[in-house]
Amino acid sequence: MKRIFLFFLAFLFLVGCSNHAAREANINNEQVSTTVSHTQPVNWLKVHFLDVGQGDSILVQFPNGKNMLVDAGTNESASTIINYLNNNGIRKLDYLVGTHPHEDHIGSLDAVLKNFEIGEVLMPKATTNTQTFRDVLAELKNKGLQVMTAKAGVCVIDDGGLSVNILGPCGAAYESLNNFSAVIKIKYGDVAFLLMGDAEALSEKEILATGADVRAQVLKVGHHGSQSSTSLDFLKAVNPELAVISVGAGNDYHLPHQATLNKLQKAGITVLRTDQTGTIVISTDGRKIYR
Ligand SMILES: [Zn+2]
Repeated sequence: MKRIFLFFLAFLFLVGCSNHAAREANINNEQVSTTVSHTQPVNWLKVHFLDVGQGDSILVQFPNGKNMLVDAGTNESASTIINYLNNNGIRKLDYLVGTHPHEDHIGSLDAVLKNFEIGEVLMPKATTNTQTFRDVLAELKNKGLQVMTAKAGVCVIDDGGLSVNILGPCGAAYESLNNFSAVIKIKYGDVAFLLMGDAEALSEKEILATGADVRAQVLKVGHHGSQSSTSLDFLKAVNPELAVISVGAGNDYHLPHQATLNKLQKAGITVLRTDQTGTIVISTDGRKIYR
């Protein structure tokens, strides 16, 4: 009987120890994350809209430590993008997206391919006969990388509270290359970002017709704020709080168009422009947006 009692005591002691050890580990973890969160929040989603003049380049840092680059500006943006990625400690781009093969989106994709370790490459099934596009294809071949087709229905990440889905293009043939744009929805917790590339009203209409959930707190406005994008129906469906326009100061196309700005203003949406504020960084803990 005494022996059984001693055994029971020893059992209690062991259980108590392991619980205590676990509690200590939790406290340490909490302390670590509290310390880090002052400078670089851990477990946050960070989206950087780089100031690349007239073009697009968006760095997405996922809470799981992976990185995605959506577009790489013009041919002249190479050093801006490479320096920005290096300054943010990026060594590997787990996902690299060329939304569509226009020079202001894939211009420095070849330089990015050359300078970083690359995971998956996503591009729509669209081609164009430019030197810029040929340079990208040559560098992809050089690195032995396959391209995954970016089209509606493709799920890039589905990891609990984090998802990345491609909502467009829905079709296989378009007159305008802009409508081939990969439209990407990134969702973390309750917060979503919708990146439109240069998708125009036709693509917006097709996306709405699929019944996809386009709602997002942050909208990267399509086609640099051109009048051909951001149709009222689509804007209402997205219902963003913040609109980001990636555009060059004094650009030849007079973008963003005043009609688009009026539409956003009338809807009470805060507009942020790279030509006015430079690179824009928006973070979220999955509940609120911080900038
Ligand atoms: Zn563009």
